[in-house]
Amino acid sequence: MPRPEPKKVRDRRERVSVILPILKQLYPDATCSLDHASPLELLVATILSAQCTDERVNIVTKTLFAKYRSAADFANVPQEELEKDVQSTGFYRNKAKNIRLMAQALLEQHGGEVPRTMDELTPLAGVGRKTANVVLGNAFGTNVGVTVDTHVTRLSNRLGLTDHESDAVKIEQDLVKIVPQEDWALWSHLLIYHGRRVCQARTPLCEVCDLLPHCPTGPKLIAAKAAAEAGKAVAAAAKAAGRRKGKGA
Ligand code: SF4
Repeated sequence: MPRPEPKKVRDRRERVSVILPILKQLYPDATCSLDHASPLELLVATILSAQCTDERVNIVTKTLFAKYRSAADFANVPQEELEKDVQSTGFYRNKAKNIRLMAQALLEQHGGEVPRTMDELTPLAGVGRKTANVVLGNAFGTNVGVTVDTHVTRLSNRLGLTDHESDAVKIEQDLVKIVPQEDWALWSHLLIYHGRRVCQARTPLCEVCDLLPHCPTGPKLIAAKAAAEAGKAVAAAAKAAGRRKGKGA
């Protein structure tokens, strides 16, 4: 007999069922922010996005994708030339090497095409589970898993939807239990949009956040902020009183 589902998982799924429509309404156009016109372009853009902003990647790929149009183009370019072309995305030696190796594997093992399964994608150079999820979910519309990046990690923790602070694979395992599979790719986009606009890492705007009534962390952050401000006011008052006393002496 299958074990009954823990109450915690049922509660989290219930919370997601409330949060998801709110986010969908807030960000009706949420989508992958890496510009691409094919699975290969999305794969290359995602490899380049490691430790780099999507905006910077989009600037670089605008000219990159005009120059390299197929797996063969990426496979046959000299390392130094590709390094120059992707330099401004950072870690460019490694990224250029991975893109060339990945493209060579596409030619040798997949007829120059990007494969459509997790098992075929993850052995490719520079392609981890996160990159594979991005490609499968956005280029092929296949929801095999949930993409967990820095925003998804932070928001999943703040919203109390995972037990794992930073392990992306374990966070993904928690999320696939509670987010409807048809929304897995969209879920990541929605959390990324909300993380950039409202639930920012350093200064989350909890007071104006539409998720506040459903977020276990928001009230704590608001209380901590109020306490910090009250502490500052007390310190400022004490300093002013000290100055007055000094003048009076
Ligand atoms: S209430 Fe605060 S912590 Fe919670 S999701 Fe909103 S901004 Fe983030």
